[in-house]
Amino acid sequence: MQVPAPVEYERATSVEDALGLLERHGSESRLVAGGHSLLPMMKLRLARPEVLIDINDLRELSFLRRDGDEFVIGAMARHRDVLEGAEAGQLFPILHDAERVIADPIVRNRGTVGGSICQADPSEDLSAVFAALGASAVIQSSSGKRVVSMDDFHRGAYSTAVGPAEMLVEVRIPIRPNSSSAYEKVERRAGDWAIVAAGAVLSLDGEQITHAGIGLAAVGAEHFRAAGAEEFLQGKPANEESFSEAARLVSASCNPVADQRGPEDYKRHLAGELTHRALRRAAARATGQES
Ligand SMILES: Cc1cc2nc3c(=O)[nH]c(=O)nc-3n(C[C@H](O)[C@H](O)[C@H](O)COP(=O)(O)OP(=O)(O)OC[C@H]3O[C@@H](n4cnc5c(N)ncnc54)[C@H](O)[C@@H]3O)c2cc1C
Repeated sequence: MQVPAPVEYERATSVEDALGLLERHGSESRLVAGGHSLLPMMKLRLARPEVLIDINDLRELSFLRRDGDEFVIGAMARHRDVLEGAEAGQLFPILHDAERVIADPIVRNRGTVGGSICQADPSEDLSAVFAALGASAVIQSSSGKRVVSMDDFHRGAYSTAVGPAEMLVEVRIPIRPNSSSAYEKVERRAGDWAIVAAGAVLSLDGEQITHAGIGLAAVGAEHFRAAGAEEFLQGKPANEESFSEAARLVSASCNPVADQRGPEDYKRHLAGELTHRALRRAAARATGQES
């Protein structure tokens, strides 16, 4: 199939309008943001919504801004906005590392942060990034907003906590002092989905790790996180020995599947190696040895 099934089209004018349209049209309606995931699925008839609710006019959700000790990204911020966001890159280099290797400029110009994490593809880069950053998601319905952690947001492959008459409105990232981050991805060719990717976030007090976040894409990690390795790193010195052990734990605990991108043992090896590299780079950045 190359052509989507017939579908009705509505263009929302505000968040409230989009939520009203979702309520009115019920569970057979779907929001469309950049359309880079939804439209291919509709062409393949893997998705057959009866009504598309276009949220591209919701400029109020296209922002990146600091809010006290959090950094907030609106659901309609495009990949390109994140990549061009100087403060986002300075606070969280992991965001720019990842955005540089997500798809290509055409997809990045249109694809949104909200669409990416709501798609919840197991290979999705931003889901791993936000998991590592310990971000939370703000979900809105006509009765108000609720905030969920990334662990609660991700319910499994292609499944999130966003209900039928709800929408994601923003992602909130805690700003931690003495911290930095990095993202490492191996792909078959430029612009492709990850064979494996790993992100690391470290907070340091001198040599000691006071907080660690590790996010993984494409290796079947629960909630895109390596919780065991994060726990191991807590309180450890930020050195090669600690990073090697964390990488070993990641490699042993992830659940990759063999597919056209490679066999399971190769992906398991990559998960450990990329975790090690991301931790090393995050530590170097946190101590000012690398930008
Ligand atoms: C050629 C190509 C290469 C790609 N490579 C990569 C890659 O390397 N790494 C990577 O991570 N991604 C990659 N992607 C995926 C791309 O980043 C996402 O498809 C895209 O950004 C999804 O965002 P969108 O705005 O297009 O979402 P859409 O396709 O519009 O929506 C996706 C889903 O999210 C829902 N949705 C959208 N916005 C909201 C909201 N605010 N609240 C609730 N639900 C919402 C929609 O209803 C739909 O179910 C690639 C895509 C393409 C086409």
